Amino acid sequence: MDRRTFLRTGGTAAVGLTITGCMPRGLRTAPAPARHPVNLVPVDVSWDRVIRTTVGLRPHRDSGFVVRADRLDEKTLIHNYGHGGAGMSLGWGTGYLATELALAQPERRAAVIGCGMVGLTAARQLQRHGFDVTIYAKALPPERYPIVDIPLEHGLFHMLYDIRHIPQIPSIGAWGGPGGNTSERRDSQVPHVRGILDENGRIMVLMTHNTDFGDAFEREGEDHQYFLAFAPDGYAFGVNAIIYSMTH
Ligand SMILES: Cc1cc2nc3c(=O)[nH]c(=O)nc-3n(C[C@H](O)[C@H](O)[C@H](O)COP(=O)(O)OP(=O)(O)OC[C@H]3O[C@@H](n4cnc5c(N)ncnc54)[C@H](O)[C@@H]3O)c2cc1C
Repeated sequence: MDRRTFLRTGGTAAVGLTITGCMPRGLRTAPAPARHPVNLVPVDVSWDRVIRTTVGLRPHRDSGFVVRADRLDEKTLIHNYGHGGAGMSLGWGTGYLATELALAQPERRAAVIGCGMVGLTAARQLQRHGFDVTIYAKALPPERYPIVDIPLEHGLFHMLYDIRHIPQIPSIGAWGGPGGNTSERRDSQVPHVRGILDENGRIMVLMTHNTDFGDAFEREGEDHQYFLAFAPDGYAFGVNAIIYSMTH
């Protein structure tokens, strides 16, 4: 069944029924009555209709990422930016390039300004090479906004689907097939859902660790076995996360 047919024929209920660790609340095992197709109004999308951009920017340079050392008075200033849509993949490598530039000067104290993916991976590389590193974060200073594990009792896990365990979803490339291991590395056995909370305890930033929800959402066209194995748990979590964010 392709994705359009799946969605047209009540795919959400089908997803719910195949979930192993999470059952939709109040769902009976009797099949849902057939629904008539819904005629959706086509979305009118164009750049001149964008009123505001709040998320989703991918800092990008047409010429590629920049890793370069400059002098700033007595200090060495090392730039590391412009990774576009590939900062998570490239960050460790460009962090290493930045560290090589830092190692070329005698100072072993470093300040990392900006704690996105690229800043943090550079900070870890510097630490591993013996630097005393201080990170400077503008938006969410870590001493005020620590990252905490979200316990399974939290409402996030029970918005629509009743999630009773955190599924471990391997990336499609790392999956060994049916019966294969879901942990991609020796130190990644335990999946986590973590967050940064606001003053009222609401989740502002939601993150997952040792589990690849992105692949659960986007690989249905590539491997049907993979889709059956991981998409139901992934969609259940994703739907809950969306409802949580819309209601909190
Ligand atoms: C939807 C989406 C999907 C993506 N998927 C992938 C993927 O699958 N694989 C991949 O490799 N990449 C992916 N990317 C791209 C990746 O997320 C980016 O390349 C990466 O996050 C860029 O990291 P960065 O640290 O350079 O920038 P940012 O994440 O923008 O971090 C910059 C940080 O600096 C802080 N800052 C700014 N000014 C100051 C200041 N004056 N003082 C202190 N702090 C400051 C900001 O608050 C921010 O936290 C995706 C991006 C998006 C939007």
